Amino acid sequence: MTGIPLIEARDLIKTYGSRRRLIGESHPVYAVNGVSLKLARGETLGLVGESGCGKSTLGRLILGLEIADSGSVEFDGSPLARAGSAEWRRSRARMQMVFQDPLSALDRLLPIAAQIREPLIIHKFGSQAQMNKRVGDLLNAVGLTAAQGRRLPGELSGGQRQRAVLARALATSPDLLVCDEPTSALDMLIQAQVLDLFAEIQSASGVAILFISHDLRALRRVSDRVAVMYLGSIVEEGPAKQVLEAPRHPYTQALISSVPGVGGLSPNRILLRGEPPSPTQRRPGCAFQPRCAGAVHACNHTAPTLLPVSNPSHRVACHLLHPGGEPASIARPVA
Ligand code: SF4
Repeated sequence: MTGIPLIEARDLIKTYGSRRRLIGESHPVYAVNGVSLKLARGETLGLVGESGCGKSTLGRLILGLEIADSGSVEFDGSPLARAGSAEWRRSRARMQMVFQDPLSALDRLLPIAAQIREPLIIHKFGSQAQMNKRVGDLLNAVGLTAAQGRRLPGELSGGQRQRAVLARALATSPDLLVCDEPTSALDMLIQAQVLDLFAEIQSASGVAILFISHDLRALRRVSDRVAVMYLGSIVEEGPAKQVLEAPRHPYTQALISSVPGVGGLSPNRILLRGEPPSPTQRRPGCAFQPRCAGAVHACNHTAPTLLPVSNPSHRVACHLLHPGGEPASIARPVA
């Protein structure tokens, strides 16, 4: 990555309070635990991990919708303004979010075109005629007709609604879209169409996208780089092709091996032992250790750090790879 990244997050930590009411003990839940990442202009970074790994919280921290306990986020070279401030509201025109459920993201009583127009009014886009033209262009860009723009959200299909949400998010020509599971509520065919639309819009507009998903196939379709999260931390990141076709971290290998191929699940599927440990109970060493078949002594007491493996842009946090070791198994690529 050359030049100033659009987003640079450093050492973000976010905890939530958790209270055991009966005995009055309080344990913080570590939703995000020391995450640093960069996102370049025009780049799509796929963020993947199991439910509850902290990826949605990380997206909200990056947008300033949540305040980190510690760490920092810079947007276009400047510290992100405090949520709610006038400066933050101005910067929100340049950073938009697309949610998983388009129906709950839209006002059910307002026609689609009026909802696409709302951010233009808020951010004083221009005259009525300029706004009319902009709304028409946005509907067209996401593959909706003017007639569909006059309908209410409930009168459109799920895929059409997600297109409408995308049009509204693009209204102010943002530099960044944070998309949180934007296709997981859609059926497979519509999902593929909407993913293609994301890729088209990304290449036409140059918007950077943080694409949060548990779906590795979706990530593969849209991502330039992929970061894999486990229990609040990034355990592997790098170019999408390298991470998805030659994963190095045992957790990434297991995730990828669980993606069904054309003929169903692979016989080489790596089964993880047990459940992820509770995020309220931090332990020393590697968080993945209780489920890792390749764990060595160091994994019990020393947390691995993200370090380059095959090239500087592919980084993995695993003692087996630093220095020199190889994980025991290599999963097959995503089909
Ligand atoms: Fe497994 Fe140890 Fe690597 Fe963690 S550091 S993934 S426990 S081998």
